[in-house]
Amino acid sequence: MMEKCFDEGTLQAFLDNELAPELSQSVARHLVDCDPCAILLAEVEEETAFAFAALEQEFNTLVPTQRLWTKINQSIEIQHRKRSVWQTVVGVFSGLSFSNPHVVAFGSLLLIVGGLLSFLPVLGLWMLPLGLLLLAEDYPPLQRPLRKGIIACELAWRRLRRRWYPRSRRPAG
Ligand SMILES: [Zn+2]
Repeated sequence: MMEKCFDEGTLQAFLDNELAPELSQSVARHLVDCDPCAILLAEVEEETAFAFAALEQEFNTLVPTQRLWTKINQSIEIQHRKRSVWQTVVGVFSGLSFSNPHVVAFGSLLLIVGGLLSFLPVLGLWMLPLGLLLLAEDYPPLQRPLRKGIIACELAWRRLRRRWYPRSRRPAG
């Protein structure tokens, strides 16, 4: 005897094992004899498989993304922890611009102090005029005395040269 054919929803439920045992058994019995229902079931099964494949693909692309984010967050955290004192110092100094007069003033003061401490190695007397010149860039009141000082030095140097190398004994050039 031929039972009534089942609709797609019932077949889907049959596939998903959501039918009551009696109904499930009758569907199974019916499928043995009914080709159209068997074909429909095959189609539903294929659709389900396709849907699952698509879902799986979605999961496969989602999971690595999640992993990637976790990894990125971890590396950021590590980077934060690895940030050394030296990096912090460099960061502070790179934040300062040499167009900032205070920085130049500080640098020139360092040079002046270095010049005054020129008896120490590395630090030299050359630092003193350089520091003064740098400082004068930002503090115009310093420029006049500095110019006078430079001229005085120049004159003193010429006097010394004249004394050491009288005109007759001075080398050519
Ligand atoms: Zn049927």
